Amino acid sequence: MKLYTNFCYPTEIHDVVKLFFPQSELTDDPSCCDVSLRESFDGSYRYVAASGELRSERTVDVENADELQTVRLRKRYAKVAIYDLMTELCGKTMPWGSLTGIRPTKLAERLQAEGADWRKEFTDLLGVSEEKTQLIADILRTQGDLRRRKNGCADLYIGIPFCVSRCSYCSFTSGEIGKLGKYVQPYVDALKGEIRATLRFAKEKGIRINNVYFGGGTPTSLSAEQLDELMDCIDFSPAEYTVEAGRPDTLDKDKLDVMFKHGVGRVSVNPQTFNQSVLDVIGRKHTVADIYDKYALVKSYGFDVNMDLIAGLPTESYEMFCHSVNETVRLQPDNITVHTLALKHGSALKEQSYGASDVSAMVDYSRGKLYSDGYLPYYLYRQKYMADNLENVGYCKSGKQCLYNIGIMEEVSDILACGANAISKRIIPSENRIERAANAKDVITYIERNDDYVSKKFQLFDR
Ligand code: SF4
Repeated sequence: MKLYTNFCYPTEIHDVVKLFFPQSELTDDPSCCDVSLRESFDGSYRYVAASGELRSERTVDVENADELQTVRLRKRYAKVAIYDLMTELCGKTMPWGSLTGIRPTKLAERLQAEGADWRKEFTDLLGVSEEKTQLIADILRTQGDLRRRKNGCADLYIGIPFCVSRCSYCSFTSGEIGKLGKYVQPYVDALKGEIRATLRFAKEKGIRINNVYFGGGTPTSLSAEQLDELMDCIDFSPAEYTVEAGRPDTLDKDKLDVMFKHGVGRVSVNPQTFNQSVLDVIGRKHTVADIYDKYALVKSYGFDVNMDLIAGLPTESYEMFCHSVNETVRLQPDNITVHTLALKHGSALKEQSYGASDVSAMVDYSRGKLYSDGYLPYYLYRQKYMADNLENVGYCKSGKQCLYNIGIMEEVSDILACGANAISKRIIPSENRIERAANAKDVITYIERNDDYVSKKFQLFDR
């Protein structure tokens, strides 16, 4: 499938076509395309999408729009025109309609601010299903004031790029800690330096750090002593302090004692599935019994617990996935995030061209079960390459929203990030954009010359 467009944002148009034809390509040659989208202007912008005899048209008037809004409207209507054509061509719709590359909650909020009926725009113009539109309404309600940006504040992210083994769906740059042994302590030492320098910088600039999040990789693949050394650098009490332990097999009493001593309040224990055969297939190297044991151990400290599941794992049937959801709910963690499998470049499953099935039904089941057990959806994000073009949804018990998750997913918090491959973000609301500064990607470069990268991070916030 070849796509030709004269629209000045071809990637956006191609993203919509890829929902239906993932292998499609853009071409500059209109004479050899299968699908085309053309933009013209005669007082209004007109979009004509065509494939053989099939055509779809949309027109948008931008007379009263400012420059930024004009760009948004052009993109929106161009995407809707090509989406209309694709649905006709393929005889199917997508759960999120023509929405790509934007957080649905942000768009809903923006449309509302523009005075539009966002629900009507979602369903009638953009083609979003009633269920997904309702989900967004529910999430906005659960977030309430928590999605409001706090000026002069930031969250601190600390990245640990190590893991105990490699899951087949993992595309992170994390390395197996057993194979990277001699770099682990130098990494911890370099990271301590970066955390201290970052906190000094934040103090000097009057940036208040609200929440601290240790992510990865798997932070608890480090030893208790190494975790202690890193947590010693946090010289204040964050509003929320989270450690993404992830793998149950990396948790023990010593590490939990360290976290408790340092005031950690929230720990994630991620089962991904409660089916042993699936754990084995995806290379998790722990048992279902470990999940129950470590969950009980973590809960005995009084930590809030986040748990993650993934819909669409290889060999996991609909019934098996429902079992995973039921078991998770039975444990009653404070947060449950239901991910849809996303096959990204760099993962073993992507190489094997694995294709998940029944994922929509799995996601529907999880939503029904979680709602009926009193869990509330509170954040949502979509990624490229997600099975069935679905989404990841974080659910919480009432009042147990993870503040860091809302800040990062909704792009309402600045992030000061430390560690290999960590990305600091500064949000510039007045210009509706985000500036980023990335650290060194790999562990060795991080250890040897991350100082060069850190100065870019400080420049980002030094304005
Ligand atoms: S536990 Fe997480 S970081 Fe580690 S290999 Fe699995 S997906 Fe990747």
